[in-house]
Amino acid sequence: MEWICAFCGSNDTGNSPYTAALTVFAEECAEREIGLVYGGGRGGTMGELADAVLAGGGEVIGVLPKSLHEREEPHDGLTELIITETKAERKDRMVELADGFVAFPGGIGTHEELFDVLGRAKHGFHHKPCGLLNVDGYYDNLVAHFDHAAHEGFFSEAQRELAIVESDPGALLDVFETYESPISGE
Ligand code: AMP
Repeated sequence: MEWICAFCGSNDTGNSPYTAALTVFAEECAEREIGLVYGGGRGGTMGELADAVLAGGGEVIGVLPKSLHEREEPHDGLTELIITETKAERKDRMVELADGFVAFPGGIGTHEELFDVLGRAKHGFHHKPCGLLNVDGYYDNLVAHFDHAAHEGFFSEAQRELAIVESDPGALLDVFETYESPISGE
């Protein structure tokens, strides 16, 4: 695994467990020589994650749609900043560049990006791991909903397995390193 794409909040939460998880994740990336692909913003927990990876000597690629780039300042210390014409193109670039995807605690944008990569995995457009970093039980309710959806027959067993849930960044990356998609045969 060379590049991992992280979806993260654009707001500052002031919540130390989330910052602590970002720091550990960045350290794990440095140790494993994994670069970061992310949304390119300088604020929020996503900016904090980019800073932490850069501080550890890692490479960081930001992928920002033109509309957001025109409205606000992107992070100016990245290894590379890619500006796309549209938001849809941004997602395509992220999926092409990264070997796996992780959703940190975040808001609507984070959930949208998580569901986008899970949806693509479901249809076999990629076979890369998709994880939820369940810091402090942040995603417990969503995971319970996934279980409910599977129980009610809206997710197949293989589709339910697409969302890898771990609370520890190192444990999540360990699963990613040996991942084989449950969908590959469908
Ligand atoms: P949210 O979870 O709603 O805060 O949205 C964060 C996610 O959406 C990030 O993973 C970004 O890829 C994207 N995003 C939302 N707002 C911005 C922004 N201001 N600059 C860059 N990316 C953003």
